Amino acid sequence: MLNFAVGPVMMEDKILRLGAEQIPYFRTAEFSAIMKENEEMMRQCMGAGNGSRVLFLTGSGTAAMEAVVWNVFTSRDHVLVVNGGSFGARFAKLCRIHRIPCTEICLPFGQTLTEADLAPYDGQGYTGFLVNLLETSSGVSYDIDLISRFCHKNGCLLACDAVSSFLADPLFMEKQGIDVVLTGSQKCLALPPGLSVITLNARAVRRVEENEIESMYFDLKDCLKNGERGQTPFTPAVSVLIQLHARLEDITKRGVESEFARTSELAAHFRRGIEGLPLEITSARLSNAVTPLHPLNTSAYSVFLTLKDEYDIYVCPNGGDQADQVFRVGHMGHLTKADNQKLLDAFSDMQRRGLL
Ligand SMILES: *Cc1c(COP(=O)(O)O)cnc(C)c1O
Repeated sequence: MLNFAVGPVMMEDKILRLGAEQIPYFRTAEFSAIMKENEEMMRQCMGAGNGSRVLFLTGSGTAAMEAVVWNVFTSRDHVLVVNGGSFGARFAKLCRIHRIPCTEICLPFGQTLTEADLAPYDGQGYTGFLVNLLETSSGVSYDIDLISRFCHKNGCLLACDAVSSFLADPLFMEKQGIDVVLTGSQKCLALPPGLSVITLNARAVRRVEENEIESMYFDLKDCLKNGERGQTPFTPAVSVLIQLHARLEDITKRGVESEFARTSELAAHFRRGIEGLPLEITSARLSNAVTPLHPLNTSAYSVFLTLKDEYDIYVCPNGGDQADQVFRVGHMGHLTKADNQKLLDAFSDMQRRGLL
């Protein structure tokens, strides 16, 4: 099986082997040490500054999205949400559920956010900004420097969902003026699903500490307090955290830049490979993490099904009204150029058979 989906993704053998081991009891000095190191290595990978904290939640990326909306903002905020697809819509829905006043900046499918899109909101008293750095549903990567400039000028607290872009595209929290970044285990971290990670800078930590929320499991104050001793309030995804430790050790040894470079090279290799095939890239601003494609001669969903059923290869289908229009090829996880070639060969074979 080859998996080019956008999570879960291919994992290294070393990570798979760790997942097959017995799980230790975790209220111990040994596990706390692993967690403290996880926090330090995550902080390093995020380029987070002094006073920043990293929290580990048992739950998929959406759990971290909900925890951030709920704990960082209040009903006294007015938050801007970039909605260019299903993940942007999810942030807006979370704001409505938790009664955080929000305004959506809606973008057409495949389009990116521009200076002109932001202009009407400048100087209007917004206090927060929520954005999915890579809107995975459309494969559009937003310009973080543009957004950060706007937030700095307007005094907005900037919270970014980097579930799909962390480790694929350069991201440096402190340098780029980002207050909160959340990510998940099953994308470029290339671990099993079930763990999400929230990094808060000192300003965001203060916000969480001052905010009273009506929840037990999602109360990040409790996570902050337990994290001081390398623990979590409740049983964490112990084995995934041990796998995370191994993965972060490798990444920090090589440097996070080498991770960006590897993903970028893989994406470029694939994009060169599809030249001449009846496939059109649909994103106005690509990430290294994923290539969204519109097949010119056939249904996108049928390409997904044929690859799965006849070639044992997964790509990622789109949902809703894009299902027949667009499918996505991920460049996340333990993939190589030889794997790319297998997918490109399958495309050529399908073309020969009149299926592409
Ligand atoms: C995958 C993803 C998530 C998390 O989705 P889950 O299914 O909850 O893991 C959140 N945001 C983005 C941009 C994603 O790509």
